[in-house]
Amino acid sequence: FLTINGLAKAFGDLEVLKDIDLEIEKGKVLSIMGPSGSGKTTLLRCLNALELPDNGVFSFEDGLTLNFDKKISKQDALRLRRKSGMVFQSYNLFPHKTALENVTEGPIIVQKRNKTEVRELAESLLEKVGLKDKINLYPHQLSGGQQQRVGIARALAIEPELMLFDEPTSALDPELIGEVLTVIKDLARENWTMVIVTHEVQFAEQVSDKVLFMDNGYIVEQGPPEEVLKDPKEKRTQQFLQRIL
Ligand code: ATP
Repeated sequence: FLTINGLAKAFGDLEVLKDIDLEIEKGKVLSIMGPSGSGKTTLLRCLNALELPDNGVFSFEDGLTLNFDKKISKQDALRLRRKSGMVFQSYNLFPHKTALENVTEGPIIVQKRNKTEVRELAESLLEKVGLKDKINLYPHQLSGGQQQRVGIARALAIEPELMLFDEPTSALDPELIGEVLTVIKDLARENWTMVIVTHEVQFAEQVSDKVLFMDNGYIVEQGPPEEVLKDPKEKRTQQFLQRIL
C-alpha cells in the first residue's frame, strides 16, 4: 500500500523520528509499540499529514509519490490526509453534536457528499460498532468505550484507504477496553489496512500481521508478532516487554 524511505522529523533540536523505513501492506495490520516518547504518535501523525516530515519519501502503490526532502504542495498534503481515517486516544468528538452528527460531519461538510446517503451510511456504521440504539445521544451521555466506538465509526465514514489508531484504548477504564478492541479486530478480519499504536500486548499479538518496536526515534525491531513479542532479538524490546507484561 505504502513504502516509506528515510522518514525524519524534528521539533526544533529534538529529533523525534530518525531515518525510518517502513512498509505498510494492503489489507494487513501493522502495530507500533515502544516506550513513551519514542515517536509513535509522531509517526502516525506523519502518515496523516497532521505533521509534515522534514525528510523522506512516501511511495503509494497507486502511484502517488511524496518527496518530503522538498517542500510538498498543499494539494499533495491534502491527498495524503484524505487517504486515512484517524482514531485518537482522547476520542476528539464534537461535544455539541450527537453520535450520528459526529459521524456525518466529515462526509457532508468536508467531502460534500449527499446528506441522505451519508446519514444511511452513518447509521449502518454506528450499528456495526454496536451503537444502533445510541445514535441520537451526545458524547457526555456515552461511556468512554462508546465514545471511542463513535470515533471509529467517524473515521470509517470518510471511507479511507488506511485506518490509523493512536492508542485507542489508553484513556479507557479497563472494563471498557475489550469492546473497543473487539471492533478493531472485526475490522482486521474485514482486511482493512491499519496502523495501530498500542500498549496492549495480547491484542497486538492477536490482531497484527506485523509488529514494529520503536525506541528513541528509531525502529529497533520489526516482524511477525510471534517473533517480536514472544521472542524478541533486541535487548531494548526484551526490556520493554518485561516491564509492561
Ligand atoms: P507516548 O506513548 O507517550 O504517546 P510517543 O512514542 O507517541 O509517546 P510522541 O508523542 O511521538 O511519542 O513524541 C515523541 C517526542 O516528541 C516527545 O519527546 C514529545 O515531547 C515530542 N513532541 C511531540 N510532538 C511535539 C510538538 N508538536 N512539538 C514539540 N515536541 C513534540
